[in-house]
Amino acid sequence: MQVFPADSAVVSRVAPSPNHGERRGGARPDCIVLHYTGVPSFAQALGLLTDPATEVSSHYLIDEAGSVLQLVPETRRAWHAGVSFWKGDSDINSRSIGVEIANSGHDGGLPSFPEAQIAALIALVKDISSRWRIPRERLLAHSDVAPERKRDPGERFPWARLARLRVGHWVEPAPIHGDALFAPAQEGPPIRALQAMLALYGYGVEISGVMDHKTEAVLAAFQRHFRPERVDGRADASTLATLRALISALQLGPPG
Ligand SMILES: [Zn+2]
Repeated sequence: MQVFPADSAVVSRVAPSPNHGERRGGARPDCIVLHYTGVPSFAQALGLLTDPATEVSSHYLIDEAGSVLQLVPETRRAWHAGVSFWKGDSDINSRSIGVEIANSGHDGGLPSFPEAQIAALIALVKDISSRWRIPRERLLAHSDVAPERKRDPGERFPWARLARLRVGHWVEPAPIHGDALFAPAQEGPPIRALQAMLALYGYGVEISGVMDHKTEAVLAAFQRHFRPERVDGRADASTLATLRALISALQLGPPG
């Protein structure tokens, strides 16, 4: 595998993966998707992301100590998001930069992310965002773009901390009180309104007016990212208020 020049000054090492292709339709990166590796060790993750048989990869992989490896050049389409959707686009791989964070994830008991690893991630995201002019609200979780299949990087990921450094889009979640406002399978205009708000923010949800499994999966993804204290896929008042505040806060400045 030919070593290529790193795209970012924060890269410690280039470890080329063969798993990439052309970005389709002339797309350029306009979002960043964060993942956890979900396997017990960094070495195992690196092996999977560079093995031609797995057909998966990411542009970057960050180890627990904060070393940043680049596996795929940013101009190429890495294979990290799979079947996915955000704001009308269903080929997220063609328009994103994928960042894998070494962490064993839900199957490994959701270990917290070490300080050095998050510091390295913040530096990397700032650098990518400024070079490609990626807006803050387009720093996404894998679970945001594939809510029915994925839970990474998970509800322990420190979105609030990143937001304090003007990385990513986030508002303080509204306090939790009371139960879910809708029963499973309930139908009606208020559910349509909720689905429309989720779709307006970017989630791939059908505006059906029915509180179906897909809507619950999208609500859980929203909570994992924006209201992590309770991830249950139910629309309570705090979830609605947080979503409304997030949409109101969408007028952002240039990437910071
Ligand atoms: Zn992922």
